[in-house]
Amino acid sequence: MDGIDGRVRTAVDLWLRWLPRWQLGSVRSRTRICRKCTGSPLATAAGFGPDVPHVVQHALISRLSLIIEDAVDDYTVKNLPLLHRELDRAAARRRRSGYQPTDGLSPEFQGLDPDPEPEPGEPFLFTLGELTGVGAQEQPPREPLSDAAKAALRHEVALSDECARNTGTAVCLALVDHRPRIAEAIERLVEPQITALLADMFRGLDDDGGMGGDALF
Ligand SMILES: [Zn+2]
Repeated sequence: MDGIDGRVRTAVDLWLRWLPRWQLGSVRSRTRICRKCTGSPLATAAGFGPDVPHVVQHALISRLSLIIEDAVDDYTVKNLPLLHRELDRAAARRRRSGYQPTDGLSPEFQGLDPDPEPEPGEPFLFTLGELTGVGAQEQPPREPLSDAAKAALRHEVALSDECARNTGTAVCLALVDHRPRIAEAIERLVEPQITALLADMFRGLDDDGGMGGDALF
């Protein structure tokens, strides 16, 4: 496996390749807060300002989060046998839990709602959210853990958290080197779209005396 620096470079490269395909307004803005991006130190390390649209930030943060998740998985497999067994069990339970619309998505879409916001008065025939759990199988019961096993497991969870924090810090430090590339791409591909949208909005306001016009954000 590449070192963290190499993996961060690859994540930024892939994001730069994806960004030209992004268009403002091509994805409806979500109304709920994103747990992956909100307050993420990765957003700060990438140099994202508050004006950078969430979908653009999410696409990079999601790829960077995968680096941290992979490092923690690797560490868990090698060093944390109890946690590893619990995660295997959880994965098996998940495999028996039927269709999961948020599984197996490419990084740009991970952590986002699987369904767009419905139009008022125009309900969907079905949503992916409603199909969650279709095909689920019965879950076998599990034996309860002893207090000693619980304490040992908590210790391993703390070690895995520490691994996540350390890897997160390394990813942030590596990311700082790529800030100029990220800033250049935002300036070239994102800002002109925002400027054009704002210009359109103001033109609309002038045309009809400041009334009407759809909400655009
Ligand atoms: Zn997000």
